Amino acid sequence: MAAVTGRTPLIAGNWKMNLDHLQAIAFVQKLAWTLKDAQHDFGSVEVAVFPPFTDLRSVQTLVSADDLPIAFGGQDLSAHDSGAYTGEVSGAFLAALDTRYVIIGHSERRQYHGETDEVIAAKTAAAHRHGIVPIICVGETAEDLEQHGAAAVPVAQLRTALEGALKGSEVVVAYEPVWAIGSGQAATSDQAQQVCAALRGVLTEVLGAEAAAATRILYGGSVKSGNIAGFMREPDVDGALVGGASLQLEEFASIVRYQKHVGT
Ligand code: PEP
Repeated sequence: MAAVTGRTPLIAGNWKMNLDHLQAIAFVQKLAWTLKDAQHDFGSVEVAVFPPFTDLRSVQTLVSADDLPIAFGGQDLSAHDSGAYTGEVSGAFLAALDTRYVIIGHSERRQYHGETDEVIAAKTAAAHRHGIVPIICVGETAEDLEQHGAAAVPVAQLRTALEGALKGSEVVVAYEPVWAIGSGQAATSDQAQQVCAALRGVLTEVLGAEAAAATRILYGGSVKSGNIAGFMREPDVDGALVGGASLQLEEFASIVRYQKHVGT
């Protein structure tokens, strides 16, 4: 059984740079059918997908026309609202597409685009300015793990990111050890719990006990249907940010339905 926390678990699929807008429509439609056929209770486990920017309008149109119980979000946003920032996408534009969430500070943005904790704080502020819930990604590299242990770097990253948070606005935190992303080598549920508990400690310090208790912390890094139930049994893990497996329809649907295969 998942821990009883009062927080609605969130299973979020980060598609990264995969699936064009036509493929996105087909995927989201099939995902909704598959979950409805399986009588998934969307109120007990929330489902969200994070397609590339060019897919968002198509996904929004489908979700709204068919009234699908699937949330969607951007994989990034600009720290700025408008102006001469070639290639960037404003939170205002995402909000205009009914985007509920935005991923901020994914390790691939940190690694390939030089995003610092300060940039991530500015992006957190931008998301909140536009009423979008930031999913703030934090996590240690293999070297960080060796030098500082698991929690020190993610804790410091979260503290800085929260400097941009608007008081009273929702955040979601994703703990993603960099060494576990795309490697097939997930953290153990015990390791994830220890770091997620430390992250909840930061939330308590910065946002207060009530907000911290209401905030969802996801684990990400090689999540699949065979290991999700173990993570979800931990008291401070409230869902998963799923990369590779979110592109395999049956596998992703099975992760969403983890309550049906506890014990695996
Ligand atoms: C990710 O990129 O956020 C991720 C967790 O990837 P994967 O599930 O493929 O490890």
